[in-house]
Amino acid sequence: MKDLHLVKNPLALHKLSLLRKKETPPSEFQRIMTEVSYFLCVKATENLLLEEKEIETPLVKTKAPFLKELSPVLIPILRAGNGFLEAFRTLLPNSPVGFIGLYREEKAKNILEYYKKLPEKMEKRRVFLLDPMLATGKSAVAAVDLLKKEKPLEIIFVNLLASREGLSYFHEKHPDVPVITLSVDPELDEKAYIVPGLGDAGDRIFATNP
Ligand code: URA
Repeated sequence: MKDLHLVKNPLALHKLSLLRKKETPPSEFQRIMTEVSYFLCVKATENLLLEEKEIETPLVKTKAPFLKELSPVLIPILRAGNGFLEAFRTLLPNSPVGFIGLYREEKAKNILEYYKKLPEKMEKRRVFLLDPMLATGKSAVAAVDLLKKEKPLEIIFVNLLASREGLSYFHEKHPDVPVITLSVDPELDEKAYIVPGLGDAGDRIFATNP
């Protein structure tokens, strides 16, 4: 696989298993998703650049590392991508947030944009594109197509779960975009759900199919 970064932390994988369980109710699902998102955010921020600055501790003057670059832009794909925001915004309180809404045209199967609100001046920042499920990869590819027009420093795609098929389609279209995820599941069913997966992430976060 190309630029794939799996979070292998045992605690994160334990929490992913809780998300997969059908008995986990929406109230717990969002809380556990937030917990898991901290691990994903740690992975996504591993390559942020640092610079040394002089500071004074209560004891001495010293040099300490601070982030050199502007905080990454967070872009959840509506609606399930919003489930990542609480954790990512806690760790990155200075990050601008934009939103992308996409839907699939039934007949032509094209991906169409229904909502887009992006921050200004994205060319000086990295983008963390947030969507819990990389299923067919079509909406992810469309979202990255759209974001590349803004010429950010880098785009990193963050998920809970990817399908093998969706990941290889995504890498074929955007080989320069790293994918951070917790698991690559083997299959997609006829409705393009990831199997074994965790079901409809949006429904599970927002309690729309209790
Ligand atoms: N979207 C979801 O919410 N779940 C899947 O399994 C696939 C796409």
